[in-house]
Amino acid sequence: MQTNIYDVIIIGGGPAGYTAALYAARAGLSTLVIEKFSAGGQMTETESIENFPGFNEGIDGFTLGFKMQAGAEKFGAETVNAEVTGVALLQTPKRIRTAREEYLAKAVIIATGATHKHLGLDGEEAMIGRGVGYCAACDGMLYRGKTVAVVGGGNSAAADALLLSRICKKVYLIHRRDTLRAEKVYHEPLMRAETVEFKWNSVVKALNGEERLTSITIESLQTGQEELPIDGLFISVGRSPETALFEGQLTLENGYIVAGEDTKTNADGVYAVGDVRTKAFRQIVTAAADGAAAAHFAEEYIANYKEK
Ligand SMILES: Cc1cc2nc3c(=O)[nH]c(=O)nc-3n(C[C@H](O)[C@H](O)[C@H](O)COP(=O)(O)OP(=O)(O)OC[C@H]3O[C@@H](n4cnc5c(N)ncnc54)[C@H](O)[C@@H]3O)c2cc1C
Repeated sequence: MQTNIYDVIIIGGGPAGYTAALYAARAGLSTLVIEKFSAGGQMTETESIENFPGFNEGIDGFTLGFKMQAGAEKFGAETVNAEVTGVALLQTPKRIRTAREEYLAKAVIIATGATHKHLGLDGEEAMIGRGVGYCAACDGMLYRGKTVAVVGGGNSAAADALLLSRICKKVYLIHRRDTLRAEKVYHEPLMRAETVEFKWNSVVKALNGEERLTSITIESLQTGQEELPIDGLFISVGRSPETALFEGQLTLENGYIVAGEDTKTNADGVYAVGDVRTKAFRQIVTAAADGAAAAHFAEEYIANYKEK
């Protein structure tokens, strides 16, 4: 019996995955999305998204995720709720395994996303959206005119602090070393920003507050413990892309799948979209844009597809 071969299998049902599914299904390709949790990916962690065009009053991440899924399924995309546990991407057709099934596809779009690293402090999970955030571009406006802190010393932390310095009354930049790891281009504007105060050689020890964050306790080797009253804390200490499955088959850089704006990876017929690929700006709208591009290039690939 001939096993069904999908034109496209998409691993991950976040905004990148379901946009790829929408475009692939509308191009008449048989399309399967495999998602281990629920539609929406990281969007489900936020109560209000205010920078996705078309939702001028904001929209919660769960609803937006389900709308994206419904939009793709309307045109025939299928969804399986399962975790992908193994892949064979360097052959045709490509093989995708879950605990129960093996699926075959001509092209594969990887949309497994990335997760923000957490500090691991008591109460951190409970305070997400209640004063604790991981994305200044997403939530910075909620703190307009207020006092916030950013933890981290790399490019993302520096970019976050700079963005917040234009919106907030005061921004503490807390870094465990005495100099930033961020590229030089950030140093001067940060030093010049009157709203930014550096807390060098310091780590966050505690998040304080009942219903929401009201202050943090930081500890410095030089000055000991100090309580900083703040309205918001942005944790920018790195991300973990979901790419362990692809090691040895796809080229990775710092854990991210190497792919440009065309989303093409080193493997023919394999595309990487959204937060999982090497890119400068990881947002819902850029993830969705990648999904559309990948479906387009997968369509081209499939038109010339030959089984080897
Ligand atoms: C708290 C928070 C708030 C945010 N707010 C905003 C905002 O307001 N505006 C904005 O533009 N951006 C925001 N972002 C960033 C935005 O959510 C991400 O950039 C976007 O979701 C990336 O989309 P993606 O599809 O690439 O990956 P993800 O959203 O990470 O989705 C990846 C999906 O893949 C699934 N998956 C992973 N591995 C497997 C596997 N092995 N098998 C099956 N499924 C798998 C995951 O379960 C997940 O559903 C926010 C992020 C966070 C964490």
